[in-house]
Amino acid sequence: MDLLNTLVDKGLRRESPTREEALAVLATSDDDVLDVVAAAGKVRRHWFGRRVKLNYLVNLKSGLCPEDCSYCSQRLGSTSEILKYTWLKPDQAAAAATAGVSGGAKRVCLVASGRGPTDRDVDRVSQTIAAIKEQHQDVEVCACLGLLSEGQAERLRDAGANAYNHNLNTSEATYGDITTTHTYADRVSTVQQAQAAGMSACSGLIAGMGETDEDLVDVVFSLRELDPDSVPVNFLIPIEGTPLAGDWNLTPQRCLRILAMVRFVCPDVEVRLAGGREIHLRSLQPLALNLANSIFLGDYLTTEGQAGKEDLAMIADAGFEVEGTDTTTLPEHRADALAAAAGGCGSHAGAAGGCGSHGAEGGGCGPCGDPASESEAEPAAVAAREESHADLVAVRRRGVGTDLPPNA
Ligand code: SF4
Repeated sequence: MDLLNTLVDKGLRRESPTREEALAVLATSDDDVLDVVAAAGKVRRHWFGRRVKLNYLVNLKSGLCPEDCSYCSQRLGSTSEILKYTWLKPDQAAAAATAGVSGGAKRVCLVASGRGPTDRDVDRVSQTIAAIKEQHQDVEVCACLGLLSEGQAERLRDAGANAYNHNLNTSEATYGDITTTHTYADRVSTVQQAQAAGMSACSGLIAGMGETDEDLVDVVFSLRELDPDSVPVNFLIPIEGTPLAGDWNLTPQRCLRILAMVRFVCPDVEVRLAGGREIHLRSLQPLALNLANSIFLGDYLTTEGQAGKEDLAMIADAGFEVEGTDTTTLPEHRADALAAAAGGCGSHAGAAGGCGSHGAEGGGCGPCGDPASESEAEPAAVAAREESHADLVAVRRRGVGTDLPPNA
């Protein structure tokens, strides 16, 4: 297929596809899905080999958020029966992080619900980072605390945070449909603050909220412009008790096409297969390792993921290897740029994109839902919408915040 040959060539040169080419990837048929995966897999292997980076989520503060992100079980008015607790103590968070590191996680993601941290919250998280790094010197720590105020990014960097996550989630045009309590521009600003402070920016999206192909391409091109080092791709977990419960808009093949499109647009970036992979890709999860070079290990913020040891077996069976702490994740040119930024230059000139909120577990946006726009309304997608997979979503009852061991 000429399209795929062109996209592979561009990906190897770090050249952006056109919008039309990105849309064409999303419009390919199920008959072509293996060709699409094979092509994007060449780009993935060129920049990241067969390595898979493992990341581990620690939910420092769960539930009771005043914001209204439609996809989120922790939102204002959520009736989801999730665990609710306030800040974990540093030693509790460090113990939780140890479970992930023991399972092979190279990065620990410290997440807290809420609009954004107070300065006192930044103090708490700083103590938590210190407690984790005391036990695991080589682990990367990413903070995900919501919208940052002036000076907070620098304080988190000084406390040892290597990265900051804030997802764009969806296109600017539809952002107001999913959240009314903050704006897309707020999110962009927070990512840019993290970059300016010299932290590695992590910003991604949520697919499956009824968005159009154009919305998906818009958000991914905005991310390319914003230039984060890692892009988590979430597939909506339609959790009972949220406005998007019951939105099952994805097929495994569509998930693969979305991941391939992200890989072509962001070829040398850490693309992370994030929340929702188990329930939407289902038995096709291993194919996605040809597209993403990073996954979350074990459970998500408020829902359960695949058992950690099944993740490790899946990686090995698919012919990939877990990335060790002795390997630099990013290609040399990106790692060098990040090191220069951390050294004080903080230049992300031209960054305009933006990122989103919390939620490796869905993060996303509001109910769009134009079936006709969804890759010509494939029959399989229609069938998936008609069939509820609600039984696949399990609210997390183990790990941090409970007396049960985690699933790392
Ligand atoms: S995504 Fe974050 S800001 Fe939005 S409702 Fe959930 S916890 Fe609150």
